[in-house]
Amino acid sequence: MRIAVCVKQVPDSWAEKKMVDGVLDRAGVDAVLNDLDEYAIEEALRLVEANEGSTVTLISMGPDRATDALRKGLSMGADEAILAADVALAQSDALGTSAVLAKIVASGDYDLVLCGTESTDARMSVIPAMLAERLDWAHLTFAGSLSVNATDRTIEIVRSTELGDEKMNAAFPAIVSVIEKINEPRYPSFKGIMAAKKKTISVLTLSEVGLSADVVGAAGAWSKVEDATAKSARAAGIKIVDDGNGGNQLVDFLAEKRLI
Ligand SMILES: Cc1cc2nc3c(=O)[nH]c(=O)nc-3n(C[C@H](O)[C@H](O)[C@H](O)COP(=O)(O)OP(=O)(O)OC[C@H]3O[C@@H](n4cnc5c(N)ncnc54)[C@H](O)[C@@H]3O)c2cc1C
Repeated sequence: MRIAVCVKQVPDSWAEKKMVDGVLDRAGVDAVLNDLDEYAIEEALRLVEANEGSTVTLISMGPDRATDALRKGLSMGADEAILAADVALAQSDALGTSAVLAKIVASGDYDLVLCGTESTDARMSVIPAMLAERLDWAHLTFAGSLSVNATDRTIEIVRSTELGDEKMNAAFPAIVSVIEKINEPRYPSFKGIMAAKKKTISVLTLSEVGLSADVVGAAGAWSKVEDATAKSARAAGIKIVDDGNGGNQLVDFLAEKRLI
């Protein structure tokens, strides 16, 4: 099986973020591998371990420094990585991002593409669906567990949502988004970190991806951030000291908030 995992480098969740001219200032903050994508990498690695001869390729679109996030995925055990990095890609929206990722996937003869369910920065949760639509592949979302039959070339997932669990299956090729309860991602071992230094990260320009500048970046964006307001500072909470009447005060508070 040839498996690809789409991974995104995102600003560290704990970093102080700010918008500049309607765009999140990503350059001024620490960047990490999107948490949810680590679960997708882990699941791909487990499939490789269970199916001899299989490979995992990481695919990303981002600035040059996104190689750091890719290197982490390689140190977990992925075989190689591809990064689309080009000045023309800055300010791409979901349509532009999915166009680039779909082109790379289409050129790779993959059986499965695994994604996280959402990025922790833009959180649109649309890229897997857009990829499936662009590639005309089956799309299985919110996988809480998955199993493949490499001989029949089929995949079955248990899709977990707030409405319950349901089984879904599809023939290869398929795009699958995974949720965090699917596994516990491994930590890169020292051996893995050393091995990752020698693994290939192919960096592609936009023309090497096979797209023109008018479908990506600000020029190709169908969405525009018109305005942004900083989140207001959190007000101090109410402290109830139990002087014998604490329970009643708590009930009054919950009732006032219409929580009971
Ligand atoms: C007007 C506008 C301008 C923007 N400008 C910028 C900008 O300048 N720089 C910038 O970085 N972002 C920019 N964004 C955000 C960018 O468009 C989104 O990050 C992108 O569309 C992906 O959406 P998402 O992060 O919500 O992914 P989701 O759909 O939430 O992600 C789901 C999964 O898709 C995969 N995935 C998502 N993005 C990538 C990726 N880039 N590479 C590989 N896999 C991926 C991952 O597996 C992820 O877990 C802009 C957005 C808008 C609307």
